[in-house]
Amino acid sequence: MRHLPGAIRILAIAGLLTAGFVSDGWSVAHALEFSKYHSQQEISAWLRELAAENPELASFTVLGKSTRDREIAYVRITSSRDANPPAIYINGTHHGNEKSSTESVLALTDYLVENAASAEVAPILERFEIYLQPLVNPDGHAANTRGDAYGRDPNRDYAGPEKPDSESFRIPEIQLVRKLVDTKRFRAAIAWHSGMEGVLWPWCHTPTAPLHARVFAAISKLSAEAMGMKLARQSWYDYPTSGEFTDYAYQRHGTLAVTFEASTEGTPPEERLDEITRRAVRGGVTFLREILRLEQEQQNLGMELNSARGRGSRS
Ligand SMILES: [Zn+2]
Repeated sequence: MRHLPGAIRILAIAGLLTAGFVSDGWSVAHALEFSKYHSQQEISAWLRELAAENPELASFTVLGKSTRDREIAYVRITSSRDANPPAIYINGTHHGNEKSSTESVLALTDYLVENAASAEVAPILERFEIYLQPLVNPDGHAANTRGDAYGRDPNRDYAGPEKPDSESFRIPEIQLVRKLVDTKRFRAAIAWHSGMEGVLWPWCHTPTAPLHARVFAAISKLSAEAMGMKLARQSWYDYPTSGEFTDYAYQRHGTLAVTFEASTEGTPPEERLDEITRRAVRGGVTFLREILRLEQEQQNLGMELNSARGRGSRS
């Protein structure tokens, strides 16, 4: 039922669904179907409508334009009343010919809004603000190429411990991601890709384990399992790279940033999209719930430390 809009669903359940009942007034904005790939026009219109029809939950922002003047946008979803809740970032389509990554971000956006009041999703949205950007590289998406308008690889353009800023951020689309990442200093992030199946964590540029290796391993393993995938490992052991998003976000801001690989083919046949996006949603929600659990554990630990200190001062 995920793809049926709420109003129509209720009518269908009531057995009242006739053409006459479905007037223009019914909200159909967040009813995405995954039987075909979405055009950038469809994605843009849908994101705008989603925000317009759920103003208490979602907002739409244009982050900037690509080299070829295509829109780069995100939606922010939250029900937190905090002025500045901890933020999580989910992006897709660093590589334009990995279109199941685009659709995975759309599917998760759809699911979070459709199920915002559910016991599964509500605690996530009450605690975090979630930024979802389906198209990092819209020029590549339009041309069905891995790289940007000049054939450069967007996911090798970030700075890292081994790569200074002066040798990085040459691609306008990645400058936009950097601006958002440096402003929000995200608690956690998923960069969706495709071309294999699994979950990868930093570091990409060295075999040395990151400080948070145990946390990365646990969250990645659970997320991969939720998608029916076996592979969850530090990215370097998949293959070494330099200048990736996850290394930058983790090194610069301590973001628990991981790569989700959605499907063995970058752009699988449309008949498989529904299945692939459904499992992507399972992986994404599992990741978000694990980040929430971690957050709550840290909060409890902080309270215990505080109360222990309090007891100490009285004795
Ligand atoms: Zn990729």
